Amino acid sequence: MITIKNKRQFAKMAEAGRCVAAVHEAVVEAAEVGVTLRHLDQIAAEVIRGWGCKPSFLGYQGFPAHICASPNEVIVHGIPGDDRLAEGDILSIDAGAIYEGYHADAALTIPIGEVDEESARLIEVTRRALWAGIDQVHPGKKVGDIGHAVETAAVPYGYGVVSQYVGHGIGRSMHEGPQIPNLGPPGKGYRLKTGMAVCVEPMFNLGTPDTVTAEDGWTVLTADGRRSAHFEHTVALTAAGPVVLTVNDLLTARPVG
Ligand code: MG
Repeated sequence: MITIKNKRQFAKMAEAGRCVAAVHEAVVEAAEVGVTLRHLDQIAAEVIRGWGCKPSFLGYQGFPAHICASPNEVIVHGIPGDDRLAEGDILSIDAGAIYEGYHADAALTIPIGEVDEESARLIEVTRRALWAGIDQVHPGKKVGDIGHAVETAAVPYGYGVVSQYVGHGIGRSMHEGPQIPNLGPPGKGYRLKTGMAVCVEPMFNLGTPDTVTAEDGWTVLTADGRRSAHFEHTVALTAAGPVVLTVNDLLTARPVG
């Protein structure tokens, strides 16, 4: 697990975070009806390289792309291929970058054109759940406080909260301890400390929380075929307080109101 010991280490993670936010901006800009997911991956590759970063995902346990592109009933880990975006789709874009050995990781879900009300609500509630979780990222809070805050945001809507995939510590590796579940009792689990960095990443499903993995070994889908949304930020617990490193002010800022 990382301990951010000095300003230089923090600056490197922050730079990786800015790169990820820039990837999101460019990919969202390009994500229109008719565009292939592979094209979005190429755009991500260019931004990461142009930023002087390396992709976290490419080659990770053999993952073949720079981003995970997860449409509709895909929860996470979708491989961007030749599928084209269609009007009314929703798309999760998960990206990671490494700057001088330090990782940042973030995801967002966007509507493609006009989406149905149910999908729009799923996206908005999942985004708010991310920020409810981030509000618990303070020294002395426990991992269960994050999960409880995320889960609580889903309850009024009856969404399936995915438990099989979780948030995580991050630093010199993309996935470090502790695991950060999206549900569970408050006040339990690992105690957060200054110097850590964590990824909070709610995944909410319209229906069942159960998942299935496709034959490609990567693509994780909802077991009932209904839609799913996913948001994620990397948060560093600095001596000056928690800092969200992957915010894009246009796309993934804290919701107002
Ligand atoms: Mg992650």
